[in-house]
Amino acid sequence: AYNFCAGPATLPAEVLQQAQEEMLDWRGTGMSVMEMSHRSDEFVAIAQTAEQDLRELAGISDDYAVLFMQGGASSQFATVPLNLMRGKSPADYVNTGIWSKKAIAEARRFGEVNVAASSEEQGFTTVPDQASWKTNPEAAYLHYTPNETIGGLEYDFIPDSGDVPLVADMSSSMLSRPLDISKFGLIYAGAQKNIGPSGLVVVIIRKDLLGHAQSGTPTMLDYKVIADNDSMYNTPATYSWYLAGLVFKWLKAQGGVAAMGEINKRKADKLYGYIDNSDFYANPIEPRFRSWMNVPFTLADDSLNSAFLKGAEERFLLNLKGHRTVGGMRASIYNAMPEAGVDALIDYMKAFEKERAG
Ligand code: PLP
Repeated sequence: AYNFCAGPATLPAEVLQQAQEEMLDWRGTGMSVMEMSHRSDEFVAIAQTAEQDLRELAGISDDYAVLFMQGGASSQFATVPLNLMRGKSPADYVNTGIWSKKAIAEARRFGEVNVAASSEEQGFTTVPDQASWKTNPEAAYLHYTPNETIGGLEYDFIPDSGDVPLVADMSSSMLSRPLDISKFGLIYAGAQKNIGPSGLVVVIIRKDLLGHAQSGTPTMLDYKVIADNDSMYNTPATYSWYLAGLVFKWLKAQGGVAAMGEINKRKADKLYGYIDNSDFYANPIEPRFRSWMNVPFTLADDSLNSAFLKGAEERFLLNLKGHRTVGGMRASIYNAMPEAGVDALIDYMKAFEKERAG
């Protein structure tokens, strides 16, 4: 089976296999990782190795703290303004889709937000040219969503934020290709795409941004408290953290993010290439900004949608239904999706088109 689900949890088959083998007895300890004390030597080693592997994979220097938090990326929509507004306002946000809008709406609960640019009028099919952004040089931070998971829109550049800390919701693009972390003040990523199970959220924060939380910030949402306690202020999501560690090891064995980026580009090029050469399928996004991770597409005739999905399921091509807010289809092709899965999808799309077109 090939699972094109946008989340939660699209883990590599090898990782699931390893987790199954280790589930009841982790390396002769007689315990599942789930049952270990988070303060035990065994678990602390698992946690530290995961962080170290992530640092190596993503090229994260000691100038940054890496936090393993809970509550998904959505909780970060509040945690970011609570910690980074620092009495300053506004915070600048760029609106390129459903996830940006959610981040903006939540941030407005904690301070003033300036929407510096938006592609809403274009139906979120493009990223506004940075020259047109109305950013504020005194802003607390500049927030953007590098990959809009639902719309399938991905920036092909890192915005220049000058001296203002750049904040990115990398939930659906983290570790999909090489990235210059030093350009960012803070990155957060809900784990369930390229990292591990849902619920866990990884935060990479430049250390000078720690310790500025607004008064009244819940302790559990204060980045400094979490950093000072090595992400163990409370009981962390130990099993998810362990699974993320297995994914990082797997990623290293694949050649890291550079190798993964090449594979991901090839997968996306193939699928968009086929869609563009067909009169039967279409993708609305400006080609430059098409997502490597989430590929939405429509059929020429909407009434064939359920037949398309049914035929796909019979071939074990799973979860291709588009997000309920946009309809059509969506193939999420995260790191865990092998190239053979994309080939199998294209073969099916060709066969369906041949059978149904005209
Ligand atoms: N941001 C982006 C870009 C997402 O794709 C998602 C979920 O799919 C979220 C935020 C919300 O993540 P969570 O469900 O972990 O809160």
